Amino acid sequence: MPVELEVINMEDIIIENATVIPVRPAGAVLENHSVLIQDGKISAVAPRDTINKNFTLNESKIIDGRNKLVLPGLINGHTHLPETLLRGICDDEMLEKWLWENVWVWEGRMTAKEAKAGSLLGCLELIKNGVTGFIDQFYYGNEIAEAVVESGIRGLLCPSVFDNNAEAGSIDNCFKRACEVVDQWYGKNERVMWGMGPHAPYTVNKEWLWKIKDFGHDRKLPIHIHMQETQWEVDEAIKNFGKSPFQYLLDIDLLTEPILAAHCVFSSEEDRKIMAGHDIHVLHNPTSNLKLSSGIAPVTDYLDAGINVSVGTDGNGSNNDLDMLSEIQLAALLQKFRTGKPTAMPLDRTLDTATINGAKAMGMGDKLGTLEVGKLADVVIMDCSGVNMNPPHNPLSNLVYSSSSKDVETVIVGGNIVMENRKVLTIDEEKVISDAIEAMHVLRGD
Ligand SMILES: [Zn+2]
Repeated sequence: MPVELEVINMEDIIIENATVIPVRPAGAVLENHSVLIQDGKISAVAPRDTINKNFTLNESKIIDGRNKLVLPGLINGHTHLPETLLRGICDDEMLEKWLWENVWVWEGRMTAKEAKAGSLLGCLELIKNGVTGFIDQFYYGNEIAEAVVESGIRGLLCPSVFDNNAEAGSIDNCFKRACEVVDQWYGKNERVMWGMGPHAPYTVNKEWLWKIKDFGHDRKLPIHIHMQETQWEVDEAIKNFGKSPFQYLLDIDLLTEPILAAHCVFSSEEDRKIMAGHDIHVLHNPTSNLKLSSGIAPVTDYLDAGINVSVGTDGNGSNNDLDMLSEIQLAALLQKFRTGKPTAMPLDRTLDTATINGAKAMGMGDKLGTLEVGKLADVVIMDCSGVNMNPPHNPLSNLVYSSSSKDVETVIVGGNIVMENRKVLTIDEEKVISDAIEAMHVLRGD
């Protein structure tokens, strides 16, 4: 049953005398600034004296921000959370064989118990990597939602609709189960948001896509779907429908809904025109696309066309971690290589793909993704004392190109501290890992 997270810490929090990267204004680096958090929101980003003059602080928790970087919580644009249990099962196959003969076989052995263990492991890994929000597509929405609530993170969950899945079997049962989970949880917890997750146009036919659209339309549920991930997929669509997957979705009237389109490695000029003209967000997963030899997405073409791009990791079966800092580093480098232009992905544009662009994809661009007054206090504090962060010529450059997720020290979600000095406060780290190992044995049939 949906439950509210117990409020851990709703006293005022002040992070004082830090280097703040607020994401807006773009490229800003505010030295010796303090961040005030009240009632779960950002109340001020200013020098400490200014805050002292303008605010009365009640029983505040004070965090020393010297030699620290403060930034908005990162947002992972595309995950399959229980796939943490599939980390390392198959490293050297193309997408089609990887999916049909490996991932889907392993997922088929998962029960709700393993899905919960994998979801908690995923939440733990996200928090440790400085991620405060993520966009997921998987079965077992109930177990993922419970893990989100328990761990203190924020998630947009899109139950998968797909044939022969582990939780519900055939596609009609799967659709029914997805609708039930959304009905059960919708509006119950502000950190758990919902969409629908038809796997892809090549696995879910138009009749089911229409049912999904009808179910979600009134609640404005986004449709989270894999799109144009491989050349094979585009060729199949042209063979079967006479058009690309995006043109096909346009023709069957699905683009009236917000679309969260994972991958988009391949697209024509015409596809990009369609994407720019609709509420379509690209969820870009560079590691997964390289590992499965799918290709390099034309990210700067999307951004130049005004299409929102949020970077994600994809599931652990194809990444194999949930490390967003390494993911945006790779995203930037690939575009520099692909375009032959080192200016293709400047620092601010790169950081946007893990913060404000992810917030927009979640439908929360006005509430998350930057450290602006009035936004929800999803905040990450990073330690800058490590050798990789010095000297601090340019803290934004150090963040994008030389920081490591191990530098993430403290994570705050909606004003609640969920990790402090690298200790996760919400869930028992050792138990989460030992339960995941137990689940691995179950999936292997040991
Ligand atoms: Zn995926």
